[in-house]
Formats: sequence, structure tokens, C-alpha cells
Amino acid sequence: MRLSRYFLPTLKDNPAEAQIASHRLMLRAGLIRQEAAGIYAWLPLGLRVLKNIERIVREELDRAGAIELLMPTLQLADLWRESGRYEAYGPEMLRIRDRHKREMLYGPTNEEMVTGIFRAGVSSWRDLPRNLYQIQWKFRDEQRPRFGVMRGREFLMKDGYSFDLDEAGARRSYQRMFVAYLRTFARLGVKAIPMRAETGPIGGDLSHEFIVLAETGESEVYCDRGVLDLPVPDADVDYDGDLEPVIREWTTRYAATSDVHDPVRYEAEVPEPRRLRTRGIEVGQIFYFGTKYSEAMRAQVTMPDGSARALHGGSYGIGVSRLVGAIVQACHDEAGIVWPDAVAPFDVGLLDVKPGDPATAAACAELRAKLEARGIGVLHDDTDARAGAKFANMDLIGLPWQIAVGPRGLANGMAELKRRCSGERSELPIEAVVARLV
Ligand code: ATP
Ligand code: MG
Ligand code: MG
Ligand code: MG
Repeated sequence: MRLSRYFLPTLKDNPAEAQIASHRLMLRAGLIRQEAAGIYAWLPLGLRVLKNIERIVREELDRAGAIELLMPTLQLADLWRESGRYEAYGPEMLRIRDRHKREMLYGPTNEEMVTGIFRAGVSSWRDLPRNLYQIQWKFRDEQRPRFGVMRGREFLMKDGYSFDLDEAGARRSYQRMFVAYLRTFARLGVKAIPMRAETGPIGGDLSHEFIVLAETGESEVYCDRGVLDLPVPDADVDYDGDLEPVIREWTTRYAATSDVHDPVRYEAEVPEPRRLRTRGIEVGQIFYFGTKYSEAMRAQVTMPDGSARALHGGSYGIGVSRLVGAIVQACHDEAGIVWPDAVAPFDVGLLDVKPGDPATAAACAELRAKLEARGIGVLHDDTDARAGAKFANMDLIGLPWQIAVGPRGLANGMAELKRRCSGERSELPIEAVVARLV
């Protein structure tokens, strides 16, 4: 991609409304633009990051056996009356009327709808277990939308739902998602710690929030530092096998959100030097809710003996758009964003440091073509800007690699390669640059 033909409206100055680094940087780097409070347009560079996150989330869920579908954003109020949540949900729900005065809502979550879909499509115990998910926009009329996409009103969520015959089956479904989440966040380049969370009226031990530690996070958390360095399961993890050992490893050490924090247990279990009380960003939550929706909505299957059985459900959310903010919050420096390789909008920023010099322009175009032919995403700054401004801009948008090409190096067939995360630079023959990056 040539920057001269791209749409990348970066900002020179810090936007006054942004209180935290990630919000500031996302606006400055031209990733998003606010259209209304908590409602954002995803500009081309930001959209590429969002799509990368989506792709990784999808790959890991598919690997764990979940099945993707897509439900509408608008739902009928009557569906939510079946579960009793239409009245209970409160002002976070955006309620809408269509031209026939039918009451509708913009979905804040989809337990009712997915239960309705599942109920209509499944009647026998043989059809279970199943796990359905979607990646779809949600709306919650948050009282205080803030920190950019971190707490938006319209936001992109992966929401998944498992259906099992009994609690033991639901527990296995829960464990699969637990492991899939560990893998997903690790691949995204962030450390998200599963912490015990509020389970609501059902109780039990089956809810975890996945938290990225950050001083500016909205959740208060307590944990044993030992959880920060646990190994994440490999891609060949057997989702049909026994996941209990992984779960045990990750849940034995103390880690809890403030809602369920137990100071007595904390002090008894965690030696002083390992105690960590800090804040974090909730990037995902997994939850077992039993037969709450299936009983209210009569979602049942017939068992081998002919009896009817209400389904045991769990739900599993990932804040896809919030993750963009969380990643920037965790991965930036003074100069700008430092994207983890896996989610970066382009792999390489290619800088023509001598605009107007035909030989440099030709060498850049050739290098861009070679890299793109190998599947490497290149943003080629072929604009007339000064070299200094180009370097600053590349640091701001945070692509993992920068290649600078200018007449002096070119005379010897050389280019300069910089790794954004370490700042490490090296002079390389242009040919070697390609070999280095593929
Ligand atoms: P929070 O505690 O931050 O309000 P939540 O617990 O209400 O989040 P869930 O219902 O668990 O959210 O939704 C699943 C995921 O969706 C959350 O873990 C979070 O990552 C994301 N999410 C929730 N609300 C928002 C929001 N207003 N803006 C962006 N992402 C959100
Ligand atoms: Mg909330
Ligand atoms: Mg929460
Ligand atoms: Mg939550």
C-alpha cells in the first residue's frame, strides 16, 4: 500500500478529550474517529487491527470446536420477555420501535436469541454438546462511555454459547473455552490473567474474567504473582482430552477480581512478596449459568429414556474492539504504538527518505512489490514529507518493522532495517531485507 494513496488521518497534537495513552494514541494514529459518545468509526488502519484480532479469535475458537454463526443486531422485545430480562435489563438497553410500533432492541448480548435458535433446531440428546459463537456489534448505553473503544456504547464482541445435557458436560465446555481464551490472548500478544469472578445467583466456581493488567484499568484485582508466568497450552492441545490439569495449574494460585476477593484467603495463601494488588482491563469473561435460559424459554431435548431435559448453558465473551485499546495500552512507548506482530495493521513501514529522487523511488517500489508478493503487508511512505516527519509518523503508528531507503545506502545496495519494539537498527543489503522478513 502506498501512503500517498491511503487514508491515514493522523493527528499532530494530543486530543484533549483522551485521558489515557491508548485512547490518545488510537486517535493520533488515525485508527478511529468518534462519531458520538462511545460510538466510533473504524478508519482503515484501525479496521485492519480489528480484523486481525477477529481472525485470531476465530481460529482459536474453531480449533476448540466452536461453530460460528451470525445473529442480527436488532432483536424483538418479546424474545427478551420470555426470559424476563426485557424489564430487568435497565437503561443500558437501547430500545427501539419500528414503523409498526413493534418493540425492538439493539442487542447488548444474545443469550435469548441463541437459545431461541438452538431450541428450534435441536430436539434430541444426540445433538449435544454444541458451542455456537458470533462476532457481532453490540450496543450498551453505558452511563460513562470513556477511554475510547475501551468502554464504548457500540462495540464489537465475540459472544459464544455452549449447550450441554448436564453440569459435568457444561464444565467440560467451560474448560475448553478457558483454554481457548488462554491461547487467543497469548497469540494476540497480551498477557490476560484468568481471575475468579462474580457468578451471579447460580454461584459455584465457574466464572472467570480474563484481565490485562494495567494501572488505568477499571477492574480492581488481587493475585499471586506466580500466575503471571504460567505456560500457555500449545496449538496441539487436545480439546477432547482431559483439560483438568491445565485448568488446575491456572486456577490454583490466587487470582480474583474485587467482587469476589477474600482478604482472609488471600493473606493465608499468598506470601507477602508474591501479593499483587493492581488494576486491569476485562478483555473477556466466561460463565456457566446452568438452566437459567433453557428453563425460562423451554429449550429442552429428549433423553434416551424419553424424558425432557433442560439444557445447561454457558456464555463466553471477548471484547474484540476493547482489545484494540487494551493492546495499545499494554504495548506503547513515548513515540507511539508498538504493535505485537500478530495484530499489526501492516508488517512493515517502508520509508523513502529522499522524496523526489527517482532511483530511491524505484528501489522502494521494487522492494514493496517483492515483500507484498511474499505476503508481507507493507505501508510505503512515498509522500513528500521530510524524512524526520516520516520516521516520527512510523513510530507513532507502530508497525513492527521499518525499512529506510535513501540514495546514500542505495549506492552500496543497502537499506536500514529497524525493529520497532527494541529500536534496534541494522544496515543490510536490500536482498537480505526480504530474506530477513519472510
Ligand atoms: P464491564 O465490566 O467492563 O462493563 P461486562 O462485564 O459488562 O464488562 P460482558 O457482559 O462480560 O461485559 O461482555 C463480554 C466482554 O465484552 C467483556 O469482557 C468486555 O471485554 C467487552 N465489553 C463489555 N462492555 C463493553 C463496552 N462498553 N465497550 C467495549 N467492550 C465491552
Ligand atoms: Mg458492563
Ligand atoms: Mg465486568
Ligand atoms: Mg463481564
